[in-house]
Amino acid sequence: MEEFITCEEPTLESAACHIGKACYKARMKTVKDLSPVMPYVNAVAKVISFDTEEPVIIFRLGSYKVALRPGELSVATVPDLIEGREAILATVVFLNDLWERRETITPNQRSRKRPQAFGIYKFLPKTNCALCGESSCLAFATKLALAELDVESCLPLQADQAAKGHILQLIAGE
Ligand code: SF4
Repeated sequence: MEEFITCEEPTLESAACHIGKACYKARMKTVKDLSPVMPYVNAVAKVISFDTEEPVIIFRLGSYKVALRPGELSVATVPDLIEGREAILATVVFLNDLWERRETITPNQRSRKRPQAFGIYKFLPKTNCALCGESSCLAFATKLALAELDVESCLPLQADQAAKGHILQLIAGE
């Protein structure tokens, strides 16, 4: 198997987080330019944003937010270096698997802007019913914009396909 990248020891940096909770970002420098794998990530992952100019792609991998730049990858948020190493390893495994399968994937070269939570909120039912597990529709919209939740988690929205379609377009960066 041709490995795209190898796992190196990450460093730990403070990440923006809730007060009283230790949280960090694990960062790993790479010798290899990560740009070639980004369109494949953009084709299959839960992408939050993709700036093709810089380039940088931000996506969800499980509960982590991963950012790829040409010479580094970072994973947030982790509580300590032990989990940081595990999260980096999981990302490296994901990228190597993607690279291995690249001939079966149609790469997506299109930029995506991170959707604005309030833009999503406009199309939600605005009943604050909490069926999604969030305390309000705005809280749900915020998590949707960060790809922490799926649009299917709002059950009342499933009855309004037009509104759901608008939200899916926003998430897709259209
Ligand atoms: S389930 Fe939908 S309508 Fe209810 S609070 Fe969540 S986002 Fe709002």
